[in-house]
Amino acid sequence: MSRSIVQAQSDNAPVASAAQRRLIVTLDGPAGAGKSTVAKLLAARLGYLYLDTGALYRAVAWKVRAAGIDPADAAAVAGLLPTTKVALEYRPDRPLVFVDGRDVTDAIRTPEISQLASLVSAIPAVREWLLPVQRDIGAAGGIVAEGRDLGTRIFPQAQAKFFLDADLTTRAARRHRELAGAGHASELERTQQEIEDRDRQDRTRDVAPLVPAPDAVRVDSSTLTVDQVVNRLLDVIAIKL
Ligand code: C5P
Repeated sequence: MSRSIVQAQSDNAPVASAAQRRLIVTLDGPAGAGKSTVAKLLAARLGYLYLDTGALYRAVAWKVRAAGIDPADAAAVAGLLPTTKVALEYRPDRPLVFVDGRDVTDAIRTPEISQLASLVSAIPAVREWLLPVQRDIGAAGGIVAEGRDLGTRIFPQAQAKFFLDADLTTRAARRHRELAGAGHASELERTQQEIEDRDRQDRTRDVAPLVPAPDAVRVDSSTLTVDQVVNRLLDVIAIKL
């Protein structure tokens, strides 16, 4: 996988120092907590790579759907993996996602793929398959990685871990706006139900459930602006330097 370097806007000492130190920063949390928006901005501020691990699970879900496989059939899903190629191409503005050479960047952002991703992500073989992919990308440090198990399982050694949360209605409203902005028909109540179902699945699964790492700093973004969240995270990172 290729890595593109986003130059740090080193307008203050902690940011410049973090850019040199090449830390691993993890952001975990439920759907709609604002992880992607915050992680992208944080990565740009630090000059780090942004890794959206949900895109990897979504890519697998897309392949399962395209192959007409039942996502509840763990053996069939596992059987698909050896012939599957998932790739991320880094662009500062918008990372691209490919499955078997096909650009699925937009196709994986539907509510249907969200649910499917949650189902396939509970299959141990899928998580095992994606583990080295994520660790390889983070091996050199200088990364802001977001998902559900980054601080607990993928990068337990990360120097800065965050658990970003927000109340359900706020998260549903954000996701609703996001979907509408991307041209997907979306009803607020239905969106809220979907993210509630998905979070329950993600929190209660046997493998790598969504839980804060014991050493993660928890941030509730319900009443904070994006800039306030980013600045709070930068303050914590500055202390770690
Ligand atoms: O973050 P995003 O909403 O794109 O993730 C889609 C789904 O992928 C999540 O609901 C979750 O089931 C799964 N996922 C995961 N572990 C991660 C990232 C995502 O299980 N690190």
